[in-house]
Amino acid sequence: MPTTRAHEIRPAARLENVRYAIRDLACYADEVARQGHQILYLNIGDPNQFDFKTPAHMIEAVSQAMRDGKNGYAPSPGIKPALEAIRGEAARKGICSVQDVFVTSGVSETVDLCLTALLNPGEDLLTPSPDYPLYSAVLAKLGIGLNPYSLQEEDGWQPDLDDIKRKITPRTRGIVLINPNNPTGSVSGRAMLETIAELARQHHLVVFADEIYDKLILDEDEPRSFASIAPDVPVVTFGGLSKNYLAPGWRIGWGVVSGELAAVERFKEAIQKLLRARLCANHPEQYAIPAALEGPQDHLIAVRQKLRGRRDLTMRWAHSTPRVHCVAPRGAFYAFPRIDIPEPDEIFVRELLLEKHVMVVHGSGFGQKAGTKHFRIVFLPDEPTLTKAYAAIGDFMAKRYGS
Ligand code: PLP
Repeated sequence: MPTTRAHEIRPAARLENVRYAIRDLACYADEVARQGHQILYLNIGDPNQFDFKTPAHMIEAVSQAMRDGKNGYAPSPGIKPALEAIRGEAARKGICSVQDVFVTSGVSETVDLCLTALLNPGEDLLTPSPDYPLYSAVLAKLGIGLNPYSLQEEDGWQPDLDDIKRKITPRTRGIVLINPNNPTGSVSGRAMLETIAELARQHHLVVFADEIYDKLILDEDEPRSFASIAPDVPVVTFGGLSKNYLAPGWRIGWGVVSGELAAVERFKEAIQKLLRARLCANHPEQYAIPAALEGPQDHLIAVRQKLRGRRDLTMRWAHSTPRVHCVAPRGAFYAFPRIDIPEPDEIFVRELLLEKHVMVVHGSGFGQKAGTKHFRIVFLPDEPTLTKAYAAIGDFMAKRYGS
């Protein structure tokens, strides 16, 4: 046995700012579970934990691929039928200037590859605030500082255009738009997208259009692909199977590069270089891409119907609960209510979990505006479960803060 003290391995300092609040509460959840309590999970955007099932024809496509021996490495950009299906989907979304498409292990990997392919130290990327924490984690990994722009709560969580204009500097290379949005559930319309496209043109920005929730628009069904509105602007549109197609565990995402070829040519080659370096995305699961995009879409009608009911229930609760103010979500399955409470929202969510066994995520975990307090609700559970969870939250707040 060695007798000297172990030499501590220092992790990279640039990771100090990486946070992923959605999973950070796990240790408290373990404690509650150890005490034998059942937790009501309103914290993770995984539809398969609730009454949503991966469409059977997608499962069949993957199992057939496995039986057919598609278990080796795939081509680095993705298998041909998947790339063709993604091009078809891009055309249906109205994207007419496609220059490249590629498949990744989830949109998480698309984000990682695209940001890595674009940004040098000293440059920056505009990201929404509140954000989806993956973006700031990848930027931290690259040693790139944050340049967050505000989503304005009083304007239905729409991007604050004045703030975007103020934050653009000669070092700004691009902007992230998450539409429909996580964590607020907001949806941006054509006028907003056109204005952002104009800013991108003026300042030579690449637009990362994260449209992973694009089939989960709850109020109307107008397609709003950013790249269709701005065919001349360099855009990477992100999509995947995790949300629209209820298969997050398969880790399948993709990117669609569009814009003028001369503008995006070197950038798309840089992405391809990174795709080759990591070999390939999950192989048999890629066979679900054509099945999903070209097969029956019936599940989406049922999914949106359930989500509408759960969103409306959430809003009825928010309207009738003291200290809670909530912009109605119009897409995805998240709500981001503001709470008037005398303590940090981090303590609110921790105590709520320990006392009522309801798990939500604190707004500070999403880089919310300083001085405000929020929490994020995932309204995927069925209505009886949500009703129970909301009653518990209301009761907790009344007892802890008064009404
Ligand atoms: N982008 C947004 C806005 C998300 O909400 C998520 C997952 O919750 C992702 C990307 C990552 O998705 P994937 O499962 O495809 O990696």
